[in-house]
Amino acid sequence: MFNSLLHLFFPRICASCNEVLLRKEAVICLTCRYTFPRTNFHLYQGNPVEQLFWGRAPVKAAAAFLYFRKDGNVQELIYALKYKNAPEVGEEMGKLYGQELKESNYYNDSELILPVPLHPDKQRIRGYNQSESFARGLSQRLPASVENDILMKRDATGSQTRRSRFARWQNVESVFEVTDNRRVANKNILLVDDVVTTGATLESCTQHLLHAGANSVSIACIAVPYK
Ligand SMILES: [Zn+2]
Repeated sequence: MFNSLLHLFFPRICASCNEVLLRKEAVICLTCRYTFPRTNFHLYQGNPVEQLFWGRAPVKAAAAFLYFRKDGNVQELIYALKYKNAPEVGEEMGKLYGQELKESNYYNDSELILPVPLHPDKQRIRGYNQSESFARGLSQRLPASVENDILMKRDATGSQTRRSRFARWQNVESVFEVTDNRRVANKNILLVDDVVTTGATLESCTQHLLHAGANSVSIACIAVPYK
């Protein structure tokens, strides 16, 4: 009764299209779930996200769930996840994508899911790491556990928007670290992030994980810009 009244005055809305959610819908409405612009990149090798890493980092597989268009519903979703205190959006996306990745041979042998870390100061302000919420959703569908203290960010990188790709690479290269090599040694790792653009951050994390003795690194992100 109380909840019904609450929803009457503060209706729950879809994080993607902002329509009012039906009683049985959670976080993202059914229409959005079915009509999301899926890339299906996880189904084929040599897809555009994998190509980002060619000659840069030997990833086993890489994919992003959805296409990201400026002013589109996926942008709305990512914005809610990052700036509207909605970690549940990441978890929901993880569950959706995990269901699909489970069917892919390139992902179903992952043992550890590692979110790309935020700088501790940034995480304190936001209250959560959006990539970690995505990781938690994935782990509800894949037989792999989330570890949030293996890959850490050591120092602020400052604004990166004006830097060249090489400068960015150098910049992020120095700030990630693996806290305990023994925990990644010989493991198949699924590295996850919210949006993949240049791939510089993921490239750097992959290099650190392989250097620490990981057996393989695969990458899964929520979205990639549509080109
Ligand atoms: Zn919707």
